[in-house]
Amino acid sequence: MIQRLKGTRDFSPEEMSKRRRLESILREISLRYGFREIQTPVIESSELFVLKSGPGILEEMYVFKDKGGREIALRPELTAPIIRFFVNELSNYPLPLKVFCISPVFRYEEPQSGRYREFVQYDVETIGAETPEADAELLILASDICSKAGLKNIRIRIGHVGIIREKLDEAGVPAERQSEFLHLMDRKKQDEASKFLTDLGIARDVADSIVGVCQISGGAGVLDSLKGERADYMKKVISILKSSGNRFFQVDMGVVRGLDYYTGVVFEIDAPDLGAEKQICGGGSYSLSRLFGGTYVPSTGFAFGFDRLLIAMEKAGWKAEKEHIDAFVLAVSAGESGKMMEIAAMLRDNGIITEADLMGRNISKGLKYAAARNASFAVIVGSKEMAAGKVTLRNMKSGKQVETETSLLPELIKKGGK
Ligand code: AMP
Repeated sequence: MIQRLKGTRDFSPEEMSKRRRLESILREISLRYGFREIQTPVIESSELFVLKSGPGILEEMYVFKDKGGREIALRPELTAPIIRFFVNELSNYPLPLKVFCISPVFRYEEPQSGRYREFVQYDVETIGAETPEADAELLILASDICSKAGLKNIRIRIGHVGIIREKLDEAGVPAERQSEFLHLMDRKKQDEASKFLTDLGIARDVADSIVGVCQISGGAGVLDSLKGERADYMKKVISILKSSGNRFFQVDMGVVRGLDYYTGVVFEIDAPDLGAEKQICGGGSYSLSRLFGGTYVPSTGFAFGFDRLLIAMEKAGWKAEKEHIDAFVLAVSAGESGKMMEIAAMLRDNGIITEADLMGRNISKGLKYAAARNASFAVIVGSKEMAAGKVTLRNMKSGKQVETETSLLPELIKKGGK
């Protein structure tokens, strides 16, 4: 037997029906905010991701040479492909360009519960706006999604990496060393982060005060001690969120998103019920377009881990509607199978979800299968009834059977047999 690859999954019909339902919730909400759906290829030049995240990303990606000797990667995320697409082909669209996609991504990491090598991200980007309103809109959308998903126990932690970088600039930390500090803070290693600064010759009290800023967390009021343009920007974002009446938000200046390209507001959403892999979403404002050969275009975006969102929803009690079919058509004997297929086609033409018996079952076995498929009705095609232009319609829930003209079937089934 050939086994499925580690960190990948097969999805059963029941699982697919849940996944499609969540996709349609995400699509519907995104469209309501004016975001437009796009798609990019599964494979890209590895260089795209190296430009964005540095050569370290090669370790985490599926990379291979194609037959033309090109270095190819299975995309590990969607932001870089979207901005590449924007720079190459979409830059003439009126800005901001608000887009989203729901697509599989691939990362070569150690699988565990909630962590896969192939998983789906729901990614949203607002390209070309650098305003508190644009950041706040994305945060409100993310929070709206959590509410519609029925998640109650979540936290949206919001920081501003630009404020931290400004403090590091003022202290004289060279730009190329700042990421090391941010990576340590991202992993909540405050002592090591402080030592890193003092090792660079920064005075202890200055180092402590920078680490102190990263430890600011709580309600909107905790930002009062921060001054300057960036702090005012952050305060405006928080004030918009406050007026939106949402209760998931909290300031957490320790959110620095260990990636170098973030420039301003950054945020993470945790669903603590998920345990170790509790982060369901991450995002923030950044600029990548210049790196990919375009002009400076500020953007802001987020990515939800679709699979983790689904697990969190199920833990919160969400149940997708059980799969069902409207009608199962079966023939009493082989002689009526042509008519059975004809009736099935007629019902489908009328928008009724219909299966026909493909196994030559007898009535009792046919009804058993119809019940297993959660059919609302069985349509039994027998020679005697057929001679009178009729069939038997059985309500699978009540067991009640009526003889009816074939032409009346669509209406009766749509009305629930009444
Ligand atoms: P990132 O692009 O790393 O910010 O990831 C965005 C979101 O994708 C995270 O918040 C997670 O919810 C989800 N995610 C990241 N890595 C994995 C993985 N290996 N398996 C499942 N979901 C993941």
